[in-house]
Amino acid sequence: MAQELLECLSFLEHEQAKRYIVPRILSYQVIQGFWSNVSLLNSNASKKDLYVEYDNYFIRAAKNYLETKNDEKKYAKSKLTCACCDNKMKSATEAFDLTWVQKVGVDAARKSSHYWDHQRDIFICPICNIVYSCIPLGFTLVRGAGLFINNNRSIDDLVSVNSISLKVGKVEVSRDDLESMAYYQLLDLMAQQAENQKLLEIDNIQIVKYDRNSESRPYTFNMLSREKAQQMYDSRKDFQFLVGKYVKENGEYVSLYQEVLRRFYNGQSFADLLYRLMRLVIDDDFKGMASIHKVLNISNNRFKGREHFMTQEELRKIRISGYYLKQAYRGQEAKLNAISYRLLNALKVKNPNKFMDTIFQAYSYKKNEKLSIPTFFIQGLNDIEKFQTIGYAFLIGLNGYEKSEDEKEDTTNE
Ligand SMILES: [Zn+2]
Repeated sequence: MAQELLECLSFLEHEQAKRYIVPRILSYQVIQGFWSNVSLLNSNASKKDLYVEYDNYFIRAAKNYLETKNDEKKYAKSKLTCACCDNKMKSATEAFDLTWVQKVGVDAARKSSHYWDHQRDIFICPICNIVYSCIPLGFTLVRGAGLFINNNRSIDDLVSVNSISLKVGKVEVSRDDLESMAYYQLLDLMAQQAENQKLLEIDNIQIVKYDRNSESRPYTFNMLSREKAQQMYDSRKDFQFLVGKYVKENGEYVSLYQEVLRRFYNGQSFADLLYRLMRLVIDDDFKGMASIHKVLNISNNRFKGREHFMTQEELRKIRISGYYLKQAYRGQEAKLNAISYRLLNALKVKNPNKFMDTIFQAYSYKKNEKLSIPTFFIQGLNDIEKFQTIGYAFLIGLNGYEKSEDEKEDTTNE
């Protein structure tokens, strides 16, 4: 058996096999996820030469088109405009549609409501048609999940930022890894550019995510603005920490990295996520306090340069105060839990007064411990964003997370 397999493998080493069998396998395993039905993926073409099929469908039409375009008189009469570029075409016969691109265009036979603005006449020119055929080339794929960073200032930038090395000494590269490496690369490029005293060369980079297993919407489009890229750069260590961190919620594993990224992109608040995580901690179903701390950092870093922002030092003091209160309640876990619940609920309903009531009670109950109510809570009374940040930082300390790992490292260096 092994001998036969080795023999098979040796056949695949053959030049002709490399030229035909490997691309054919790729056409089914990779290309078909992005486009189908035409050219080498036409059902009649499965036994034909795929190079010839590609040439027939894509290249020849483009060559013919360029020839007519060179005839200025004829070209001037063309009325049909390509939906992607400024090219004009003389008639629909010269044009292509996007029905062959998976889940982007639609089957013309189906509802017209799928079309942008209900227009049925979306035509693209033969040149754009070739560009669309290259979609599979742009994506870096990991087990059906792909990523394309549309940094289109130049072809060089595009290639460099999408050259994501998937060999990082790990056997299994996950979707999180892929994304995190891609951002790392992007941020690294930005940092280099900034060092070279060039202007930060990015403005609104489009990030396209692809999921082969999503039947209805395989593509997700996200925009990384200059501001967001900067925020991501400021929080890069926190993002990195969350790669591969999962939380089990209602029997399902949720990727913290993906949860955070989604909110980050959409400019959403992190309050709901922080609530869910802290709730799991209080219920003793989650122990990843360091992860919650990182989520809070990322949330807080979004406010850099604005009044809602709190420094690492401020956050550290708040955490430590929470930790001291926990110490005061040692041996009274049930009481401490009840306090945590009440504080958490006040955060959920965004009610600083309710939060402060619990704080007053909790501290006055421990009068003998010589603890006084910290003054930082005042900052949260009129600023709901700060209230959330302070509240969660305090809860993090109250549930036993006093110092972050980085800070521990820092103290050993002193
Ligand atoms: Zn075009």
